[in-house]
Amino acid sequence: MLDEARRRALIETAARSVIDHADELTALDQAIGDGDHGLNMKRGLEAVLADLDSLAAKPLPDALKAIGMTLVMKVGGASGPLYGTLAMTLGKELPADPTRADLGRALGVAIEAVKARGKSEIGQKTMLDVLAPVADALTHGGDPAAVASAAAEATIPMKAIRGRASFLGDRSIGHMDPGARSSALLVAAISQTAEK
Ligand code: ADP
Ligand code: MG
Ligand code: MG
Repeated sequence: MLDEARRRALIETAARSVIDHADELTALDQAIGDGDHGLNMKRGLEAVLADLDSLAAKPLPDALKAIGMTLVMKVGGASGPLYGTLAMTLGKELPADPTRADLGRALGVAIEAVKARGKSEIGQKTMLDVLAPVADALTHGGDPAAVASAAAEATIPMKAIRGRASFLGDRSIGHMDPGARSSALLVAAISQTAEK
């Protein structure tokens, strides 16, 4: 049952996992972007944590919509509207106590919304390169955390086609995409907490 205590644990662990890795995300973004991804995500997720009591009290769909709006307002950069769209679409698509199949389907819809918002596709060295294989694993089987971690590693040899990293062209090759890494951290935290 996804009760208030569980919603609180999910939101809190997911937010903290990224906040605790802010320096790493910043270092990744220093290599192929403008060095603010860790700070952007930390600012947004600290705003989420500041609202934790009220968020955990809401049914999951409402909590996700509220988190999405906070991310759009507080994260900024390219990733704020994209993570905001992801969370808001999940809020629209998920029931209050989702099954694994519900999660796979809703994440598939949310990925399409992110693609539309970012004018991006899979294979362009972005967060989508982690989110898409995770949706696939949720639907067809596989450990989402392991899939996400491998998918983030797999962005290292990719050439960026979207986002700031694309300005570097071939020089974006050889570095992990920061948004792919933040997505993998979120997926790992959420799936570890959901299993408990
Ligand atoms: P900014 O690039 O504006 O400084 P961030 O550093 O916070 O924003 O976020 C960068 C991350 O956002 C990238 O690593 C990438 O994963 C993701 N991203 C950027 N543009 C797009 C896009 N068009 N579609 C999907 N993801 C994107
Ligand atoms: Mg940046
Ligand atoms: Mg920026």
